[in-house]
Amino acid sequence: MAQIDHSPARGILSKATGFIRAFDYTLNPYNGCAFACSYCYAAFFAPTQQLQDEWGKWVRVKENALELLRARRKRPLIDKSLYISSVTDPYQPVERQLELTRAILRELADYHRVTVVIQTRSPLVTRDLDVLRDFAHARVNMTVTTDDETVRKAFEPLCPSNAQRLDAIAAVKADGVDACVTMTPLLPVRNLAAFAEALRATGVEKFVIQNFHETKSRFVAGTGEAARALLRERGWDERHYAQVREVLASALPTLREGQAGFAPQWDAATSSSTMPAATLPESATIGTPPPG
Ligand code: SF4
Repeated sequence: MAQIDHSPARGILSKATGFIRAFDYTLNPYNGCAFACSYCYAAFFAPTQQLQDEWGKWVRVKENALELLRARRKRPLIDKSLYISSVTDPYQPVERQLELTRAILRELADYHRVTVVIQTRSPLVTRDLDVLRDFAHARVNMTVTTDDETVRKAFEPLCPSNAQRLDAIAAVKADGVDACVTMTPLLPVRNLAAFAEALRATGVEKFVIQNFHETKSRFVAGTGEAARALLRERGWDERHYAQVREVLASALPTLREGQAGFAPQWDAATSSSTMPAATLPESATIGTPPPG
């Protein structure tokens, strides 16, 4: 269980940069993350070395998040796009009791024409479908990384299973809310044909893929060694990824790769992924995807 603290934040909206620079702002209701993914780059934004080392074991609730957002009513977020969240998951386990993300969404839903994209790996997002339906445009990006629970437990020991995530995003889609599956990063897959079929069976029409890039500094939370050994054991490399990408691209005609899939709005019907996977521009793979 992660240690939960409450403290005031100085701000609630940050200018979006890097991989998600197509958005106007990022919004993080929490600092830290109880999901403890071993590859999470957000850990390196923790303010102290100790907090970096203990990534996954602490969550700070921005207790004044709603108040800070309400102050923005003086300067409405008309036509702005928000990415929720860039350095945490907005559906932390404690969100079930606190309902902080829910309160933020209720507040934002009152603003004119604001676009929100929720990035999560928690089925708890389905609790807030009633609020998400009130937006002019809201999308849920559900991160799904593998079909293999052994892999998931090595890299994402405290996350919901990928099967739970697929069920959740299917429920989002069935409810009429825009939905996307972000395989960012994609980890070793056990049964590719069955995985592609499970993705299609969600009814979702938007998919994003991004390779897993291993660098030593990107591993935290004590699961690093086991995860690296598993990558070697499965022979996961660029070539293997390219093969998987090709199969997924033919099974999922709207598949996008990398940053192209992190636009505030995109129309699956006109997706660039109608390109064969082998001809996707190499530049699309460059950059660090947001966590979540
Ligand atoms: S990748 Fe996302 S869910 Fe995982 S620890 Fe980082 S912020 Fe949390």
